[in-house]
Amino acid sequence: MYVQVVFNTPLNEPLTYRKPEAVTESLIGCRVLAPLRSRTVKGIVVSETERADGIPGMKSVESVIDAAPICDEMHFKLAQWMAGYYHCSYGEALFAALPAGDPPKRIKTVKDRTDIPETQLTLNAEQVSAFAEVSDALGTKEPKAFLLYGVTGSGKTEIYLRAIDRALTLGKQSIVAIPEISLTPQTIERFERRFAGHIAVLHSRLPKTEKYRYWQRIRSGEIRIVVGARSAIFSPAQELGLIVIDEEHEGSYKSSETPRYHARQIAFWRMKQERAVLVLGSATPALETFYHARSGGGVTLLTLSQRVGATVLPKVNVIDMRTAKKSDVFPAMSGVLVEAVHEALDKKQQVILFLNRKGHSPVVVCPQCGKTADCPHCSITLTYHKNKNTLLCHYCGYSRKYETTCKECGAGEVSLMGTGTEKVESEIATLFPKARIARMDHDSTREAGAYEKILGEFAAGKTDILVGTQMISKGLHFPGVTLVGVLSADTGLGFPDFRAAERTFSLITQVSGRCGRGDAPGVVYVQTYNPDHYTIRHAQEHDYNAFYKDEIALRESLRYPPFSRLVRFVIRGMNEAAVKADAASIHGMISPHEGKSSLAILGPAPCPIAKLKKYYRWHIILKIMSPKMVTSLVEHVRTKFRPRKDDYVEIDVDPYNML
Ligand code: ADP
Ligand code: ZN
Repeated sequence: MYVQVVFNTPLNEPLTYRKPEAVTESLIGCRVLAPLRSRTVKGIVVSETERADGIPGMKSVESVIDAAPICDEMHFKLAQWMAGYYHCSYGEALFAALPAGDPPKRIKTVKDRTDIPETQLTLNAEQVSAFAEVSDALGTKEPKAFLLYGVTGSGKTEIYLRAIDRALTLGKQSIVAIPEISLTPQTIERFERRFAGHIAVLHSRLPKTEKYRYWQRIRSGEIRIVVGARSAIFSPAQELGLIVIDEEHEGSYKSSETPRYHARQIAFWRMKQERAVLVLGSATPALETFYHARSGGGVTLLTLSQRVGATVLPKVNVIDMRTAKKSDVFPAMSGVLVEAVHEALDKKQQVILFLNRKGHSPVVVCPQCGKTADCPHCSITLTYHKNKNTLLCHYCGYSRKYETTCKECGAGEVSLMGTGTEKVESEIATLFPKARIARMDHDSTREAGAYEKILGEFAAGKTDILVGTQMISKGLHFPGVTLVGVLSADTGLGFPDFRAAERTFSLITQVSGRCGRGDAPGVVYVQTYNPDHYTIRHAQEHDYNAFYKDEIALRESLRYPPFSRLVRFVIRGMNEAAVKADAASIHGMISPHEGKSSLAILGPAPCPIAKLKKYYRWHIILKIMSPKMVTSLVEHVRTKFRPRKDDYVEIDVDPYNML
């Protein structure tokens, strides 16, 4: 017997190997170790044959990793489709779709928890009608997509839970995707409490063998509900009835490795293939999604316009930092915001201060020679981290000891510019000496259990002020919080990216949504140097529809998504001239096709981060108006273009990050 094996390489065709004689059962869908060139590499068996003639020197599979298949026909078909859509090899697609973990050496039995009943809520009128539509769709066994557009705290999660329950009753499995940062103990508990015994939560802290075991139990149908981050979308549910993508606008649903798939895109594919119901939920839907919901693009809009119960959306005050009086102690905070924090603390209420920048100071500059401390490997300034007394690159991890004398001129005393969360934490300790302060960002949550501890103490009221990055912006439900301060709303607005406005709107809305979830109403202060920007104005009014109207008009006039599909080529290498030359060659292959209303080309140009991890980077962005005509062109470049030695070309379909 012979097996056809694919590998996680750009190789398009499967390779044929001899099947180990001792193995009698089928290996289709199992991982094996097989020789590839001079190495032994992990591969996946995609088919078996009795005969394989005319292949001289055929090698044998060395060993079999999986005792039982980890994937099935659905994954094979999905990988075929992904290879075409995302312009990668079949093997690369299949490996992305099988994040199955490692088989355990010894099979342990796991004890299931038993059902813990939960108090039932009465849905409000909007929830009732939204749920009815989803429930009906589940009953018809027809594929159907919904956008559940509901303001923060409007009870979206409650709809998901009931829909899952309904699917369970109908004998169907459910996949629930949640952004990794929202996979908080709070959220997990809510799902586990409702569906104990039927549910697997696949978070990144799960040991690999545990993940494998869950994977197989999902495949066998023993587990009916999967909750997890991006890759949960590939779960081998055989009786899929429902897919939920919570916070569907979140960037973390887009993979940053080849193939750079988007979980939402995979969800649509599975919905159609497996005749499932798809629920996309968000308070700030991706513009593309809302467009499809509005324009009859196959997505049905369900709206929850009010918060549940008596709670209302917080009042958002915009502070014009060009004219506002600043705190003498800490000029990054306006006097108004300082006053508001004092008031909240006096009333024993909790405060969240949000700043999307970790570390102490993002820029270290020498006033003598004017030079900034830059990363030697990236075109990025180093951030000063006071706690560790280091200068750190947030892109490649390079760090060096902080010294007060300038490294460039050896004369000047460096000064620290800008503000990060570490600085906020230490400055507000001076401003509010009696307050109990905690900080939540990647640095403060590195240790195991730190994340849970910070959130647990805040939930228990042991912390008065929580300072944090976007880690605190989503999914958290703390009824004691009445004040949110956004220290700088402008951080993301200046990004060279057509999604900059959308992201900023979403972030302000999400952070604002953290307050006023209890009995006392919430107030938000947004500090900005662009108070008249439409993004800020609409976020102030909680008016997604108005933001959408402005933004979609802009997208249409510039022919950005959803009015085009983008494909981005990133060419990188150690030698800048070679990278530039390769970019020019690729451009040369594509440019003859430009101009006809189907395609526009941007670049080639250096990427906004022109050097990253020692690599120089250039990019070319295709704006594609008729994908059918351009797909073969992109595939032609992928399979025919040979980059110069040591250069790499990455293809990103529907890019999310343009840096
Ligand atoms: P969202 O997901 O839209 O942010 P949640 O589903 O988390 O909102 O709901 C916010 C809070 O309100 C939760 O504590 C939830 O249990 C509660 N809740 C949801 N629906 C109702 C309802 N109909 N009546 C009362 N409380 C509700
Ligand atoms: Zn770096």
